[in-house]
Amino acid sequence: MIDWKTKAKQQQEDYLNDLISLMKIQSVRDDTQATDEFPLGPKPAQALTIFLEMAQQDGFRTRNIDNVVGYAEWGEGEETLAILARLDVMPAGNSWDTDPFDPVIKNGNLYGRGASDDKGPGMAAYYALKTLKDMDVKFNKKVRFIVGTDEESDWTGMKRYFEVEPEPTFGFSPDAEFPLINGEKGNVSLKLDFEGGNDGSVQLKSFHSGLRPNMVPREAEAQVTSDDNASLVNAFTEFVAKQPVTGEAVAESDGVKLIIVGKAAHGMEPRNGENAGTYLASFLQTYDIKGAAGNFITLIGQYMHQDSRLHNFDLAFKDDVMGDLTMNVGLMNFDEQDGGQIDMNFRYPKGITPDEIQAKLAMVTTPKNVKVIQGAFMVPHYVDASDPLVVTLMDAYRHQTGDVDALPEVVGGGTYGRMMKRGVAFGALFAHTEDTMHQANEFQPVDDLIMAMSIYMESIFNLVTD
Ligand SMILES: [Zn+2]
Repeated sequence: MIDWKTKAKQQQEDYLNDLISLMKIQSVRDDTQATDEFPLGPKPAQALTIFLEMAQQDGFRTRNIDNVVGYAEWGEGEETLAILARLDVMPAGNSWDTDPFDPVIKNGNLYGRGASDDKGPGMAAYYALKTLKDMDVKFNKKVRFIVGTDEESDWTGMKRYFEVEPEPTFGFSPDAEFPLINGEKGNVSLKLDFEGGNDGSVQLKSFHSGLRPNMVPREAEAQVTSDDNASLVNAFTEFVAKQPVTGEAVAESDGVKLIIVGKAAHGMEPRNGENAGTYLASFLQTYDIKGAAGNFITLIGQYMHQDSRLHNFDLAFKDDVMGDLTMNVGLMNFDEQDGGQIDMNFRYPKGITPDEIQAKLAMVTTPKNVKVIQGAFMVPHYVDASDPLVVTLMDAYRHQTGDVDALPEVVGGGTYGRMMKRGVAFGALFAHTEDTMHQANEFQPVDDLIMAMSIYMESIFNLVTD
């Protein structure tokens, strides 16, 4: 049995030198400097070029594809193991204690943009591969270490790679967290489109709630008029007192402004928040609001309120391994004159499609004259936990860390893993380490990076010698 921890430790100095030289490049996508030669601006391409020169000197076969993606290759065989890494970083932003592009090590932590997202983990995987090559391990398959340069926005490079190169047999991306992500739900927004109009003794002038489809709205505000605004205000105050939200009713010259404050949360689990907009609509739906405004309020207040699992639309669905279909009402906007929209963001497991979801919604909305518009979607991605790739990577993780009870996870977000049928995300953030990605003072403990390297060494070794 090879002692991978010792092997990784022996690489630490060279690894940090190469990593730090790459972290000094401000490889942020910059569309203002985009040219035909450098479609993402010059800096991501510069990081790619320097990495490929490094890999060539290390003895790898390399290729730069259009300055947006490239690879370093080793080994021979019919099958190809792909490692999907990347060299772009988020803009630094403000409030750093040190220069984000002049990395420093303090108290055992490497600080700098890209330390954890994702130059640090990517280069740990590269060094794992390089170590096996330098040990003269006999590879029974090809390994391609593929580096994108645009993960933080459109995946331009990685998409180009899969357009022009054959799909690898399987692979992993060191661009998320340990232990391993083998499933990602699909993601689609469906919008309900309303005309303007009011018809009832209570009039909804306007209604606004939400900032983004994938967030539970914290605030909601509606303008309403009625014959008896004073009793409306009283009823609202009583309603709010019984709910887990706060609210305020402000009398205005032409009616009442109602405000509710709930609790924001990520839209992938609406139960973690209190949706201010659906609470406000559930209050208003007891009033005589009719016409388009009435349909808007009824659909939110009666059908969507506290129903992230969609029982009211007869759409409750669960996959045994990927979990529930969930829905977040992320944006609710209505104006008496112009009409409005409700943005419903769905996270869907395998076994159901956006078209099926849309058809079920339409059964409720069509009689109300409300159109359902489907936005772009990402399909669910799942690699079976018994796939030899997942088994091999999980074994290496458990063996190197001693975390023997660890299990692969399904998440709501998107990683490079989904680029391949048999693709997963594997590392490199450990559960015990603070997540500082995209933040000021981004860091990664050097010990974590070296631990990740030893996990990647054992993983790649077992995959190329089995
Ligand atoms: Zn990121």
